[in-house]
Amino acid sequence: MKAVTVIPLVKDSLALRDMPKPSPKRGQVLLSPIEVGVCGTDKDIIEGKYGAPPPGEEYLVLGHEAVAEVVELGDGVDNVGVGDIVVPTVRRPTTCTLPINELDYCPRGTYAEHGIWYLHGFAAEFAVTDSQYLVRVPKEAVDVAVLTEPLSIVEKGVDLALRLGKARFESWSPRRVLIMGAGPIGMLALMVMRLRGFTDVTVTATRPYDSLKAKLVREIGATYVNTNVDQVSEDFDIVIEATGSTSAAYEALRHLGANGVAVLLGIYLDSRNVNIGPLLDDWRRNKLIIGATNASIRAFEMGVSDLVKARFEFGDWIRKLITKEVTLDEYEYAYNWGHEDIKSVIQIRSL
Ligand code: BGC
Repeated sequence: MKAVTVIPLVKDSLALRDMPKPSPKRGQVLLSPIEVGVCGTDKDIIEGKYGAPPPGEEYLVLGHEAVAEVVELGDGVDNVGVGDIVVPTVRRPTTCTLPINELDYCPRGTYAEHGIWYLHGFAAEFAVTDSQYLVRVPKEAVDVAVLTEPLSIVEKGVDLALRLGKARFESWSPRRVLIMGAGPIGMLALMVMRLRGFTDVTVTATRPYDSLKAKLVREIGATYVNTNVDQVSEDFDIVIEATGSTSAAYEALRHLGANGVAVLLGIYLDSRNVNIGPLLDDWRRNKLIIGATNASIRAFEMGVSDLVKARFEFGDWIRKLITKEVTLDEYEYAYNWGHEDIKSVIQIRSL
């Protein structure tokens, strides 16, 4: 079978390779991936910054954002059936002993992750995974379900922000929301905040006011600000950082008002060079920072349910977030997305 692979930690080793078709062991299923999304983590792995192959192997199959069909069941599998459309979660415990719904809190080194650490990913004609980590997708959401994995991170961040924000004092009633970044995470954060009933939402990015991103932000009732031209104020109740850039994360903290909650959703590899000293005195005003880059199965389920709701409320809007679709043979283009792109996806087969 064909698979998109890298030799982890070897820069630019990305290649479509012929690999043996895997077969499901006890408790596992064989998946036929339909679509696989690509993200900054894939780029970091391709650039040789991190990642690891399964023990004893040289290559790692990429792809941790997927929607797939179950095509074969290993012994003992009874929670899904052949023909089900599913989204696999990413993380699997190795030595982590936390319950299945808390694996996102496993300490480093106690887990593997499909397409990232020690487990093959889903950017291949076939893949195997343990059946208990699958989330079933209803028909209405199949064509956008490839967005579930990035959405799960947003769901976790927003859920924590709202619950922990209130846990501090009951009368906390956030109104003004700032989302930094109009890539997939920013757009999905916008979708979730609109579904949660927030009407005062501002999204910042550096695209022009007539760009697709700006239009999509306005299309579901939010305000777009091009920070190359205009500034936003500094007193938001919730700020969601969705660019993954360390300087933007710093700005996110600066834009937060008293009693506010900041949600940082990126992986900030170069953050050691940033001095947050100038912010600290202001931060005593009851502010809270939440970080998330991996989510539990429950957050994946919340994501699927929000995709169905968003379909109903915003029609075709979510599908428009997929701005680039390539076939498996054209896989290289998927990893070369531009500033105008939102989500880039490899379409492995048709539905
Ligand atoms: C994935 C997470 C993963 C993280 C770190 C992110 O891109 O969405 O599932 O835990 O990378 O490896």
